[in-house]
Amino acid sequence: MSLAIVRTVRDLRNRVDVWRRAGRTIGVVPTMGALHAGHISLVETALARTDHVIVTLFVNPKQFNNPADLAAYPRTEADDAAKLSPLGVDVLFAPDGEEMYGTGFSTSVSVSGVSEGLCGAHRPGHFDGVATVVTKLLLQSGADFAFFGEKDFQQLQVVRRLVSDLNIPVEIIGCPTVREEDGLALSSRNVRLSAEERGIAPRLAKILFTAAERLEAGGPVEAILEASRRALSDAGFDTVEYLELRDSETLRPVERLDRPARLLAAAWLGATRLIDNVPVGAQGILQSGGIT
Ligand code: AMP
Repeated sequence: MSLAIVRTVRDLRNRVDVWRRAGRTIGVVPTMGALHAGHISLVETALARTDHVIVTLFVNPKQFNNPADLAAYPRTEADDAAKLSPLGVDVLFAPDGEEMYGTGFSTSVSVSGVSEGLCGAHRPGHFDGVATVVTKLLLQSGADFAFFGEKDFQQLQVVRRLVSDLNIPVEIIGCPTVREEDGLALSSRNVRLSAEERGIAPRLAKILFTAAERLEAGGPVEAILEASRRALSDAGFDTVEYLELRDSETLRPVERLDRPARLLAAAWLGATRLIDNVPVGAQGILQSGGIT
């Protein structure tokens, strides 16, 4: 079946109803477009796991706290559709702003706890915007499974929380971060990096992986975090917003590596903000009862 580009919730629901009546399972992959191999890996996972796949494309103004970032965000719908079509995706749901937030729209979904700190502290309103649009996309599509990247790890935890709290009947599947060969996590914003910045960018992942190894080897948490922040500045990042070790589920700060944790960072290169995160907490450490 060829890819259908759908603009309205009514059209989307009509198609989903047909699949439902036939007893088929449905997967949704929410995106803001400018699709790269990271998005495609989510789509492939969805295709392998469900009978019908909906990819959504909506550059959600509510989650941009910075108007310049929203204006500069790449918009490449025709290319995106061309990438999805041969894969066997059923629907590209690409509504406009009016369809998503029509006249009188007044509701906001706000998740406390996991959305606080990290990106939440540096991007006011961002996670309310994410939570609101994701709630709408899940309810609009009625999907059984929704696929999100670990690249945006805090977002993944916010989505898991809202789905659980609001009893939305969907299973959230987290998918691993896809990286360039030099380690840089793929992102739609990478196209904005100058050649010089592109040379510096992979240091973010390298510094995180090195810190994770040192933490897993039992090094002192705060000293390693501080050295890693300094390493980012020394590598040429202009502002280091945060580099933190957090519980991988609650995202509460971790001072002692006695449970699965995540090392997360955000830093600016010129006008581009990069984020990345890596898991910390080898099985051996956990089995041996943790490290002080
Ligand atoms: P975005 O279009 O940036 O909103 O991302 C849409 C989805 O793709 C989100 O669930 C992201 O976490 C995921 N994603 C973005 N970049 C990557 C990547 N490099 N690897 C895996 N998933 C990603």
